[in-house]
Amino acid sequence: MTVWDTVVGQGDALAPLIAASTSDAAMTQAWLITGPPGSGRSIAARAFAAALQCENAGCGECHACRTTLAGGHPDVTLIQTEKVTISVEEVRHLVTVAQTAPSGGRWRVIVVEDADRMTERTSNVLLKAIEEPPSRTVWILCAPSLHDVTTTVRSRCRVVTLRIPDTEVVTRLLVERDGIEPGLARECALAAQCHIGVARRLASDPAARARREKVLALASDIRGVGDAVLAANDLVSIADDDAKAATEERDAAELDELYVSLGVGEGERLPPALRAQVRQLEEEQKRRATRAKRDVLDRALLDLLSLYRDVAVTQAGASVGLVNEAHGAEVAALASGSTLAETLARMDAIGIARERLAGNVAPLLALEAMAIALRPERARLG
Ligand SMILES: [Zn+2]
Repeated sequence: MTVWDTVVGQGDALAPLIAASTSDAAMTQAWLITGPPGSGRSIAARAFAAALQCENAGCGECHACRTTLAGGHPDVTLIQTEKVTISVEEVRHLVTVAQTAPSGGRWRVIVVEDADRMTERTSNVLLKAIEEPPSRTVWILCAPSLHDVTTTVRSRCRVVTLRIPDTEVVTRLLVERDGIEPGLARECALAAQCHIGVARRLASDPAARARREKVLALASDIRGVGDAVLAANDLVSIADDDAKAATEERDAAELDELYVSLGVGEGERLPPALRAQVRQLEEEQKRRATRAKRDVLDRALLDLLSLYRDVAVTQAGASVGLVNEAHGAEVAALASGSTLAETLARMDAIGIARERLAGNVAPLLALEAMAIALRPERARLG
């Protein structure tokens, strides 16, 4: 199994990366990997980094391949962020690292997984570095689309565009790699709309499936304004729980680690001079929690959107499959109880809520407005 086997359903899209990893003549020192969420951008970036370090074009077996894929190769720097933006200090640090020669590997590789989370000023700091990298340095930037990075950054990079793998590919992956039962694997691949990470989480975590069920149930539960307000509250608390589950453990471990590195033992009082460091970490964790909550909420809205998409498809009489096959009865009921125009208006309301959340509107406000727009037409007239 080579490192490229970790990137599924991409066909020829990976060819330039594979060529570059085997021949210096095909090499470019700044890459931009784009693709919608779930297409496996960061997996492709890691596979490429591993193939660059490997003496054997990414065999998947050697020390270089394994340490790179696990995120521990000394010459591969990975920047993942759960914060809203990558700070200019972080990028300055990367630029310094990029100037140094590889310590033992073939290349010095810098992977920026969320290159879309940079302000223009930060992008400009990066720009200078990717324009003229030292001879053994490679930059790999990842972003959802070309429009998510500045034109100047884009113009300095060679672009590789990934696509969302299809249902069959994701189903097979869940069955073969994660040992998921085929029926459940297919249901989760569909529900996640082929986002591999989301599909795997749904397939392996019953609590995540239960949360998704709750979100979908909202579509039928909202009858009036009161229900809508309650539903918005529910959505926010589902997201809180989910985000908490994801961040709590790590936050505590990071804090312990910081205490150890500051030389403060368990139960000892923190000397005032060191408080700023702890506060800084706590601030960062708070920002990360906010980011996680927004991501979870957005996922919930995408789930809800997929249900109305099924309703719209049914109303339009289109002969395409449902995303939520298991919710066929609910979809049919919603389809017969409303018109296509109403369904499209509801989908718009969900789209607006997603935009507002991305624009940092208070979640509850954005969701209340949306939930009110999801009420049945008759309730609104009556
Ligand atoms: Zn290898």
